[in-house]
Amino acid sequence: MQMEKKDIRALSKDQLRDFFVANNDKAFRGNQVYEWLWSKGAHSFDDMTNVAKPTRAMLEDNFVINHIKVDTMQRSSDGTVKNAVRLHDGLVVESVLIPTETRTTACVSSQVGCSLDCNFCATARLKRMRNLEPGEIYDQVLAIDKESRLYYNHPLSNIVFMGMGEPLMNYNNVIKAIDMITSPEGLGMSPKRIMVSTSGIPKMIKKMADDDVKFKLAVSLHSAIDEIRAKIMPFSKNFPLKDLREALEYWYRKTKSKISFEYVVWKGINDDKASIDALVKFCKYVPCKVNLIEYNPIDDGEFQQASEESIMAYIKALENTGIVVKVRRSRGKDIDAACGQLANKEG
Ligand code: SF4
Repeated sequence: MQMEKKDIRALSKDQLRDFFVANNDKAFRGNQVYEWLWSKGAHSFDDMTNVAKPTRAMLEDNFVINHIKVDTMQRSSDGTVKNAVRLHDGLVVESVLIPTETRTTACVSSQVGCSLDCNFCATARLKRMRNLEPGEIYDQVLAIDKESRLYYNHPLSNIVFMGMGEPLMNYNNVIKAIDMITSPEGLGMSPKRIMVSTSGIPKMIKKMADDDVKFKLAVSLHSAIDEIRAKIMPFSKNFPLKDLREALEYWYRKTKSKISFEYVVWKGINDDKASIDALVKFCKYVPCKVNLIEYNPIDDGEFQQASEESIMAYIKALENTGIVVKVRRSRGKDIDAACGQLANKEG
């Protein structure tokens, strides 16, 4: 029986160097191949032109490169680009390039489908099929960086983990991908330009703080009242706001990094005064800012964008307390690339 070949990108640089030594070659060959795999984004061993042909053949015999393939690329009328990304096993995830005047941001996926069950989110309906490998996350960024250079004449400036999946349910692979994205041997990007957005898993937020991560943290809050939050995000019953608050205080004590709260206001769900007061109170516990996000309805009618007046009431209450608040208008709506809309409609 033939053994399944291993993805070479699962090997660390040291492991790759050891592999060459064990195969009677020089350790530095490992460095060369590592550079091809990560900073040069090689798709095949044949791309590695400064590696001798017999060595490439030997690699081919032992390994595969499970590179992603951008199946389809759609451009929205507002310049947003959405990639449907095919993985080596045929599954599909989506990633998005969001351009503004001053920056281009990649919104990447961390899981195929999602482990969680947010009622407003199209991805939740796919359920979790599997976690993405570090290389598959890295490749999404690389593909968007190329598109940013092609369409906007500059490299990618920011990354947000707000695509499909809950990044903290695939923690180790997300961290490995970020290590490569920020490493000089990868894309050399500053961790300050990366934001990991979680639905708020207290234990994992504390773990990130203990691991001394340098990227930024966003939390999809959507309500600061347990009962309402549980209606929006049923899994949050297991993670009461009291525990979330405590984890966020811990995060700030350790990292001194402000938290962004992502917050959608829905008609009849969280557009009342009690919800506003609860958010203002919650925001006082820890240095933070609030992003009020415009909602893009998915097929059913349960969740509808709240009125402009309700959003203004939130803004006023937050600003009166000195909390920075921004309204994020949605991008890429015409291609289903907006927040909460990623669901492989093409796949
Ligand atoms: S909003 Fe995020 S965490 Fe919630 S189901 Fe969708 S992808 Fe998962």
